[in-house]
Amino acid sequence: MDSLLADGTPAWRAVREFAARVLADYIRIDTTNPPGNEKTAIEFLARILAEAGIEHEVLSKDPSRPNLIARLRGDGSRRPLILLHHADVVAADPAEWKVGPFSGETRDGAIWGRGAFDCKSLGVMHLVALLLAKEEGAPLSRDLVFICVSDEEQGGAFGARWLTETHPEKCAAEYLLGEGGAGLTAPGRPGVWLPSYAEKGILWLKLMSKGDAGHGSMPKKGGAVERMMRALSKLYKLRPQVFITEEAEQHLKTLSTRVKFPWKVLFRRPRSGLTRALVTAAARRNDFARALMSSTFSVSAVKAGAGENQIPASCEATLDCRIHPSDSATAFRRRVEDAARPEGVTVDVLLESDSTRSPVDTDLFRVMTDALGRHSTAKVAVPTLFPGTTDNRFFRNLGVTCYGISPVLVGLDEMDAHGPDEKITLLNLDLGCKVMHDIVSEMCGTGQRG
Ligand SMILES: [Zn+2]
Repeated sequence: MDSLLADGTPAWRAVREFAARVLADYIRIDTTNPPGNEKTAIEFLARILAEAGIEHEVLSKDPSRPNLIARLRGDGSRRPLILLHHADVVAADPAEWKVGPFSGETRDGAIWGRGAFDCKSLGVMHLVALLLAKEEGAPLSRDLVFICVSDEEQGGAFGARWLTETHPEKCAAEYLLGEGGAGLTAPGRPGVWLPSYAEKGILWLKLMSKGDAGHGSMPKKGGAVERMMRALSKLYKLRPQVFITEEAEQHLKTLSTRVKFPWKVLFRRPRSGLTRALVTAAARRNDFARALMSSTFSVSAVKAGAGENQIPASCEATLDCRIHPSDSATAFRRRVEDAARPEGVTVDVLLESDSTRSPVDTDLFRVMTDALGRHSTAKVAVPTLFPGTTDNRFFRNLGVTCYGISPVLVGLDEMDAHGPDEKITLLNLDLGCKVMHDIVSEMCGTGQRG
């Protein structure tokens, strides 16, 4: 492998070319999950680590779904920093894409392909930071750990969930950087960084109603479907309960010094009735705001009936509820039950997984914010709740302080990385490598800044 340094500091032109080449090759390995087939991708990364002489091991529940852990050892005076990403990607329908989804093609200043954003590029940024730290050779105050897991997109049973449960000692750390947040920008705007510090909990509910079956020509009142429709329509009419977390409150207070009246007054007192009313109105109008500030539900399935002329005896609905960290799954389930029970609809829990959060008053958060601002126009980082879930949650459960950040500036439309024509600009790839190198240097004490 060619050197990534010149005169002991990163040779950024060489780093850029290396990162682009590795990302294109990484994208060309089809790791669509299901089924995953992450083995080839893990072997690809392991080869690069071996060439660089970096200690690493492969751990797997199923040999075709392996996980990779690489480690640069520090002097142990501080606990490790983990850089986490996943090798698997979601499906891509070539008919919807302008390029082959696994072509890794460079076009219009960007690298295209499934995984270009979520989250092979993040893996390459982590890898570059690791390789630079190794080559710089400065003593480290803590272990720098690079982890690539399988199976993130399907819940982590072969990946992060299994790894943290089976090998918690290898996953022990003070800090972890993984996926989740990014920088949001628009033409002509400086942009803002939205690193995620918390994730919502998951509550999957099964609703069930029963009624008399019969012939379609003889309708009866109060059938299974009618009961279910009534219960669901009550749920749709519920007002979202809005939560302002301590972190959001703190952030609004900080912002209050920089904005004008009336925002100045409102932000200074985030718990006032007026602020709350405005925030609630915003949550009712805007889907994104609602997902960030309240617990939500989606009806993900409704099943009833078999024949055109038969009245079904039962109706079943599943609800995918996402629980805000300031709310509780039990309280939310009760709200659903209050709507369902009077209609004779029963509620059962299919899956429950708690929300997770990390403190934001930490060295890593400050170092990350500085590094992001140093290399980009966006100077503000707002700790953000991630409305979905990532593998970070398994590590939070081990007591690791985790933030989700892809150090790239993108438009709102590019934030949903599961659609067609996923890509990352070469400028963003370069930005991400520089930010990661800075963070690692400062957190692990490896010296130079990019
Ligand atoms: Zn992802």
